[in-house]
Amino acid sequence: MMPEQNVTIIGAGLAGSLLSIYLARRGFSVTVFEARGDMRKERVEAGRSINLALSDRGIAALREVGMDAFMLSEAVPMLGRMIHSATGEQKLLPYSGREGEYINSVSRSGLNIALMNEAEKYPNVAFIFGERCTDFDTATGEATFASGRTFRGDTVIATDGAGSPVRQAMQRQIRGFEFSSRFLDHGYKELHIPPGPDSSFLLEKNALHIWPRHRFMMIALPNHDGSFTCTLFLAHKSEPLAPLRPEEEWPQAGVEGEEGGLFEWSFDELTDEASVLDFFTREFPDAVPMMPTLVEDFFANPTGQLGTIKCWPWNAGGKALLLGDSAHAIVPFYGQGMNCAFEDVRVLDTLIENAGTPDWEAIFIEYGQLRKVNADAIADLAEENFYEMRDRVADPVFQRKRELETRLEQNYPDYFSKYSMVTFREDMPYSEAHRRGNAQDELLMTLCSSVDDVSELDLDEVAESLRLLEC
Ligand SMILES: Cc1cc2nc3c(=O)[nH]c(=O)nc-3n(C[C@H](O)[C@H](O)[C@H](O)COP(=O)(O)OP(=O)(O)OC[C@H]3O[C@@H](n4cnc5c(N)ncnc54)[C@H](O)[C@@H]3O)c2cc1C
Repeated sequence: MMPEQNVTIIGAGLAGSLLSIYLARRGFSVTVFEARGDMRKERVEAGRSINLALSDRGIAALREVGMDAFMLSEAVPMLGRMIHSATGEQKLLPYSGREGEYINSVSRSGLNIALMNEAEKYPNVAFIFGERCTDFDTATGEATFASGRTFRGDTVIATDGAGSPVRQAMQRQIRGFEFSSRFLDHGYKELHIPPGPDSSFLLEKNALHIWPRHRFMMIALPNHDGSFTCTLFLAHKSEPLAPLRPEEEWPQAGVEGEEGGLFEWSFDELTDEASVLDFFTREFPDAVPMMPTLVEDFFANPTGQLGTIKCWPWNAGGKALLLGDSAHAIVPFYGQGMNCAFEDVRVLDTLIENAGTPDWEAIFIEYGQLRKVNADAIADLAEENFYEMRDRVADPVFQRKRELETRLEQNYPDYFSKYSMVTFREDMPYSEAHRRGNAQDELLMTLCSSVDDVSELDLDEVAESLRLLEC
């Protein structure tokens, strides 16, 4: 048990709520301030995706606090990507060739509520809702709230998300604080496929559905009630489309410009019912009949921004630490933002345990040294995967590569694809998965572009070449 200390957490989202459980178990007195109301009592705007892919790194962190079995019982397993072609054919690309390696679709609010309920079982945790932090003093450790209230614990851990006011205060007050934000030209919008008769699933239940269309894509994740939450990723503004190069097999999906030429579809072009219906029936003809509220949803739901935030240092002496999206917001294309934030919590907890006494500055410095390289790696992986999901999953060479990876995973216990290393190997740091995965990808893409069918390749030779990459 740690000496009596009060830890303040700013933000009762996914990371903050899980962190409060970990800290409560260590005997700290934990006060969690949350800007929104209590989502268990009132409808609060979630603001982000309705459901999320939970995978091994996140599950490992939930397991430590006994929450994994419950959350998995509430989740829908997704065994692979179901690719929907422009003409409506479907093809399942499994996430792994190994049994038991899949990802899970969970409800964001369901998970957040379960974590808060668990945290409140500890008498040393208090949640204070409707308190928006507006400023933080890195010298005194005092947080100021919109209500005028101030609060000072022994230390503050800021899990207040991508727009973190604590991070902004650190940026103003810490000399040399490094900050960068990079936004994609693409935004996202959530849409809905309701359940069929008797809560049946209108699409394959155990898959993450993707409609890849080169410059844009739609995905759909299953929900427990038989519905799917779809997310359209599309450019904010139209750019002229470059003419096709001879080697490109892609049809150019676009909209005619007024003075000729083809422009890519964008949110800017979808301004009324007719343009929305035209776009969806041309590009996602198999999905439209399952989306009876498509037009209403399209105009009711906000268009979200997608960006990567990097900053350094993550700590203000021992007075504050940034954790989760406040330190490293990433684009969602590896389904790892929450999983990474949960891993952050697990790593921090291990360091607290090892330290024995809460020397916050020493713990935070070591934490940053361990995690920064991995947060940077998953940020880069997530951006790279955007282009893979959007452009390459429908490419025959890429599909052959996935097939080869599946066969390798079925036959060689020591082989893990890049996707598997990131998603299913909680024992492997993201930075290592990134380095090894990119080297493997290069080799496998070269091999797959040299054959029409992966059965033409000698599997033993491929496995040996992959091993040699590690030498
Ligand atoms: C479209 C989309 C899809 C995604 N899909 C996945 C996925 O499949 N898998 C995955 O692992 N990750 C996914 N993510 C990423 C994931 O949502 C985030 O990484 C995760 O929510 C980070 O958790 P967090 O607790 O750090 O931040 P948040 O979840 O943003 O929580 C921050 C909390 O702080 C509160 N807060 C904010 N400001 C203040 C303030 N001033 N004072 C007090 N409280 C404040 C907020 O209200 C909120 O409760 C996705 C993200 C997006 C945008």
